[in-house]
Formats: sequence, C-alpha cells, structure tokens
Amino acid sequence: MSLSQRDIKNIWHPLTQHKTATAPIGIVKAAGAVLHDEEGKEYIDGIASWYTAMYGHCNEYIVEAVTRQMKQLDQIVFTGFTHEAAVTLGEKLLEILPANQSRIFFNDNGSTAVEAAIKMAFQFHFNKGEKRDTIIAFEEGFHGDTFGAMSASGLSVYNGPFEDFFLKVERIPAPQEDNLDEVLEKLKAIISNNKCAAFLYEPLVQGAAGMKFHSPEGLNAIHKVCREHGILCIADEVMTGFGKTGMNFASEYVATKPDIICLSKALTAGLVPMGITSCSQQVYEAFLDDDIARGFFHAHTYSANPPACAAAIAGIELLTSEEIQKSIRRIETNHKQFAASIRDHKKVRGVRTLGVILAVDINADMSRYGSLRNKLFEFFMERGIFLRPLGNTIYVLPPFVINDGQLQKIYKAIEESLVLFD
Ligand SMILES: *Cc1c(COP(=O)(O)O)cnc(C)c1O
Repeated sequence: MSLSQRDIKNIWHPLTQHKTATAPIGIVKAAGAVLHDEEGKEYIDGIASWYTAMYGHCNEYIVEAVTRQMKQLDQIVFTGFTHEAAVTLGEKLLEILPANQSRIFFNDNGSTAVEAAIKMAFQFHFNKGEKRDTIIAFEEGFHGDTFGAMSASGLSVYNGPFEDFFLKVERIPAPQEDNLDEVLEKLKAIISNNKCAAFLYEPLVQGAAGMKFHSPEGLNAIHKVCREHGILCIADEVMTGFGKTGMNFASEYVATKPDIICLSKALTAGLVPMGITSCSQQVYEAFLDDDIARGFFHAHTYSANPPACAAAIAGIELLTSEEIQKSIRRIETNHKQFAASIRDHKKVRGVRTLGVILAVDINADMSRYGSLRNKLFEFFMERGIFLRPLGNTIYVLPPFVINDGQLQKIYKAIEESLVLFD
C-alpha cells in the first residue's frame, strides 16, 4: 500500500477538510531545494517548506551539528539547568538581533513564541501596577493558531467557533504610502478608548495575507505613538526572520526597534521545531522582584531542546556566511529581473519583491482556498514545482541554496500559469 493510502486511514492533517480533500502526496526524501515523492516525482520547494528549510533540505552542515549534539546531550529540564548549546545560541542570536534585544526566552514554535510575547506584555504592565487588556494588531495579520496568537490574527476566516473566546484586539490597517494619516488617527483613537498593552505586527511583510508589504517609515511612525503611551511593540519575525527580506531581520529596516521579537520557522533551519521570544532589558527588568510571582511563570517542557539549539547555531553560522549572503543577493537580482519582465502582463495586477520574497498578484478574483486557486496549485505541481498560492497571489520564497536553473523553471511556470486566467 502506498504512503498516501495508509495515511488516509488514520491521519488528521492541518488546514484540511478531509471530506473533500484529495489524498496527500507521500514525500520520501528531500535534498537541497528538491522534494522527492513516493512515485519518483521531483518538486522544487518554492516556499522552503513554509519558510523553514532556507539552507536547503537535509543540509549536511546542519545535520552534522545536530547529530553531534544528540550524542552529547539530548534533553534536560531548562529550569535550574543550562547547557552549552542554549548559551551559545543566546550569544550568537544577540549578535545579529537588533541591538536593544538583551534576553532570549525559549518556546516550541511560532505560535507559542507569540503567545509568550503577549503574556510578557500583559505581565509587564501588571508588574508595574497597571491593568492593560488590549492588543493592537494589523487588519490582515497572521500570528499563529494558539488562542492568543489566533485572537491577534486578522485573517481569521475559519475561526468562527472560537471568536467568542478571543483576547481583546483592536485593529489598524497596515501603513501604505497613502494612508499613514488615517492609520495614525485610528491608532490614537484606539489608544484613547482602550488600555493598550502591546502592538503586535509582522514587520514589513504580511506573509499569510499574501506577502503584502508595508512601509518601514509607517511602522516607525506607529512605533513612536506606541512609545509615547508605554505600549510595547512586538515584532513577529517568525516568517521574516533570518535573511528572507535581504536583511537578517525585517526590523533592521525600521529606525525604531521592537521591545519584543518572536522567532521560529527558519530559526532551526527546517530540521526541528523551536521558537524564541527575545526582549529588551527594560522588559526583562520589569519581571525582577523579591516576589516570586512577578517572574514569568511560563514554560514548555522542551524549552531550549539541545538538538534544536544546535540546529539554530549552525543555521546562524550559515546565514552569516559569505556564500549564503551572496546567494541572497543572487536570488534578489533574479526576482527583480523576473518582476520587471512580467509587470506589464495583462493578467498581472501587481508584482513585488523584497530579499528572496517574490509575489505576483493575478488580475482575477479568487477565494483564498477556492477551486481556481486549487487549479493553480495543481498546475505548478504537474510541472514539478511546489508553491502554495494564496487567493490570487502566487508567491515564491525559495531556499537560499536554490540554483538559477531552478529559479528560472519557477518563473517560466508562473508566466505560463497566467493563461489559466484568459
Ligand atoms: C507561521 C507563522 C506563525 C506561527 O508559527 P507556527 O510555528 O506555525 O505556530 C506566527 N507568525 C507568523 C508571522 C508566521 O508566519
């Protein structure tokens, strides 16, 4: 029996309506930018398996570092104990994170990195004797699927059953070139009508919204208003972190720096799950007290799992290497050339690039996971390319190790896919 046939007997997949979904594809191997299925078909991984495997699948350098770590120390309780991999990762991360970051808190994935950030923000104010209960977030933001993160996500089309239990969240539009006054006015109104604890946002690129970009200047202006009112700024860099925008972190494009940063996805180079919530010294100090209860009593069993830390250290070493930095520039240049060549196509409504991110908006109305979108998905799969279009947006976020031939193959398929909309 095939993997695919065995799977449908007892597995429940995420983001899947099993009554109507087609059987999943059995993947047996991955190497570099390529996935291999059980029938021997190959697919170029155009989205680095949800922005994780940025240094290529089964990257030898990462695998070796993790293997070495697993043989030395596999897992320990991270309350009362520490270990080399966690300490080294903390040092290496703080070297590349924005300079105001000073503490590294470990969790398990992107959602829990955000969840911890939200709890930190609420308790920060609580510890100072203030009860602040509102989160400010962007309209089309995505922050994960646990309750706090889900509440803050504006893209909650499938969250109907849970909406009554959400945290209190007020929304502002993402700042574009023409709406900054409106955004700031709305922000100020929210601040005067609510007790705002934090502003949570995806810096510069809203991934799940369809790789929508907004301006660093706008973000800077929002930060300033938040600062004036003691509202903590939380940058969710789960998607944007680790080189994808051309910088190590998207927050580097913004003049003011966030108080808290959430990391995951490429953090562990696609090998194992881990999340991190980093914060400034000011945030950290609000938890120091003779009263134990003012500490941050939030923990995950696998906090700072040593093999995960080893993967992250090796990932940072690769990210900061000349070879990967050159690759980022190379992909950037390729994306820009392709974007320029397709910009005036009658079926293209818009095209944008930043770092290794490329997004093409098709001139057609499509629902997020509707049938036309599925047709588009199939079109790419038939050509050996794995992409996950979001509504009418086709986006590419390839591993840094993708070669020019593979990139051109993706571009060609995108161009050819436009005939579906004639
Ligand atoms: C993927 C993502 C998350 C959630 O991360 P998980 O590891 O899937 O829980 C949160 N925020 C952003 C911006 C993301 O892209």
